[in-house]
Amino acid sequence: MSSEELKVAELVKRSSGRVIAFTGAGISAEVGIPTFRGRDGLWERYDPEELATPRAFRRNPELVWRWYAWRMSLIREARPSPAHELLARWESEGMLMGVVTQNIDGLHREAGSINLVELHGSIWRMRCTSCDLKLDLGFGRIPEEIPPVCSCGSIMRPDVVWFHEPLPSDAWSRAEELMGKAEVVLVIGTSGLVMPAASLPLMALGRGAILVEINPEETNLSRFARFRIRKGASEALQGVNRYLGGIS
Ligand SMILES: [Zn+2]
Repeated sequence: MSSEELKVAELVKRSSGRVIAFTGAGISAEVGIPTFRGRDGLWERYDPEELATPRAFRRNPELVWRWYAWRMSLIREARPSPAHELLARWESEGMLMGVVTQNIDGLHREAGSINLVELHGSIWRMRCTSCDLKLDLGFGRIPEEIPPVCSCGSIMRPDVVWFHEPLPSDAWSRAEELMGKAEVVLVIGTSGLVMPAASLPLMALGRGAILVEINPEETNLSRFARFRIRKGASEALQGVNRYLGGIS
């Protein structure tokens, strides 16, 4: 076990609940959620940037929905990792204020996180392209009819943020509010490259928060972090958790 983990455990304890986790693809990669680049032959000739755009959807909603249904079929095979579960447990024990995630896979909610901001939406929710009605599908449930149709007669789309789209303003303001209250931000499994999401930890830093980076690799955010744990998310959080029990 590393002494970084002990220092982070002490920091979390000292911050009496004013701790936020900011997570990215790395926390889900370890439970086998594939990244964008599909390994399935069917999709190899498609560039995700050609599928995850408003224009692609206007051109061929059925194709885009088939791609999402395929991704949903992969994601539903996964279970939350020990890292997802520990974040949910720390929240229920009052040590963590909430989670801000860039992931759309629904695993934080599945693990039991409650105060959760899904910056890029959720693959398990869809919304109407005309009346804006939102429908929660629930983890693991793929629409039977593709493309799904709203009760108003219009086509539904995945409620996720596509390339060339802004982040939903309600999610963004909730994330900003959380970051504004944080004394500590645990930056977990994110490269810090996807803007504007990556500016959130820096926003917290600017207001005096301490950044902790949990990532096996060096990232764009590393130099801003006071503590760095160079391990995968689950191994690192389990390490911190072992120390938490021993600190009063
Ligand atoms: Zn509608």
